[in-house]
Amino acid sequence: MNIHEYQAKEILKKYNVPVPEGYPAFSIAEAVEAAKKLSTEVCVVKAQIHAGGRGKGGGVKIAKSKNDVKDIAKSILGMNLVTHQTGKEGKKVRKLLIEQGVDIARELYLGMVLDRVTSQYVMMASTEGGVEIEKVAAQTPEKILKVWIDPAVGMQGFQARQLAFGLGLEGKQVGNAVKFMIALYTAFVSNDCSLAEINPLVVTKAGDVLALDAKINFDDSALYRHQDIRALRDLDEEDPFELEASQNDLNYIKLDGNVGCMVNGAGLAMATMDIIKLAGGEPANFLDVGGGANVETVRNGFKIILKDPNVKAVLINIFGGIVRCDRVAQGVIEAVKSINVNVPVVIRLEGTNAKEAAVMLQESGMDFLVAENLEDAAQKVVGVLK
Ligand code: ADP
Ligand code: MG
Repeated sequence: MNIHEYQAKEILKKYNVPVPEGYPAFSIAEAVEAAKKLSTEVCVVKAQIHAGGRGKGGGVKIAKSKNDVKDIAKSILGMNLVTHQTGKEGKKVRKLLIEQGVDIARELYLGMVLDRVTSQYVMMASTEGGVEIEKVAAQTPEKILKVWIDPAVGMQGFQARQLAFGLGLEGKQVGNAVKFMIALYTAFVSNDCSLAEINPLVVTKAGDVLALDAKINFDDSALYRHQDIRALRDLDEEDPFELEASQNDLNYIKLDGNVGCMVNGAGLAMATMDIIKLAGGEPANFLDVGGGANVETVRNGFKIILKDPNVKAVLINIFGGIVRCDRVAQGVIEAVKSINVNVPVVIRLEGTNAKEAAVMLQESGMDFLVAENLEDAAQKVVGVLK
């Protein structure tokens, strides 16, 4: 799960990670009130969306005086913000963070993730902070320093110092950075985070070390332990189709193609997308309907897939291991009867009672295209689009 910058900063603050003074605002009036509370005259108005690159897209603006906050907030709140992380359609800005203007001496990068290969945490730091860390990772990976942290012993002072010296920090900046990193580590572990990214981590002219930006992701499987964090979920930031699917216990991810896919099992769903591409088509979605595909799941699956206007054909690929193919076929026939499916449907069922299922589909009086195998299914579905 992903949260907003202002929420991430509130969590970090609880663990003594230094962040600038700031207040969220959901309206122009609140933005003006928030600015009044700040101790500096220079303020920063920041769009709160679940995507980075806001600065470059015009979603982070500096107000030289508190009097300018109103006009700047007006220009950002409600705008459609397009960044390299939002896709070309952009995201509507519904919330702002009004923050003190910080006197920046250096912009650095600090990140932390779980390294599944070594079963350890890894903290990463780079002098190339600011806006595009992805480029640094691709072009000059040696500029990213890393320390691996054994969760059994936690982050040690020498590891934080190694990063701080690697960043070229001096004097009291070193001690401040070490405290910052250890506090970030504690916040990360205590909240079952899967990623934390402070970009930029800034050193101020006074030698303070602050999180100027903060992105935190949480491990969804651990959210049951953190009801307070679950409450921070912002449904406005989620894809409406994906949200509806998750409410129906379907695992759906929207993609850009025109072949709707309904599959049981994530592995088979991935293989189905691959084979559609191999046959020259483009999947419109990933959809795992789970092990026990029945009338209800198939119906909900169709509803979600057909909401996407790009879908021009549907491929159903179900392996009858836990569930019998004849039951799935029955489910498909009933679901299609009950809703208006106006695109060609190709079906490949394999496993227990596959033959009986094929006969049921052929004799249903509906225009299903029954495929013999996976390859045949992909070719049939791409074929009907020609
Ligand atoms: P994003 O990564 O989405 O572009 P950031 O929060 O990193 O958004 O802000 C972009 C840039 O704006 C920062 O690199 C920094 O230069 C500037 N900035 C952000 N917040 C402040 C602040 N409180 N004071 C001064 N400058 C800021
Ligand atoms: Mg940033």
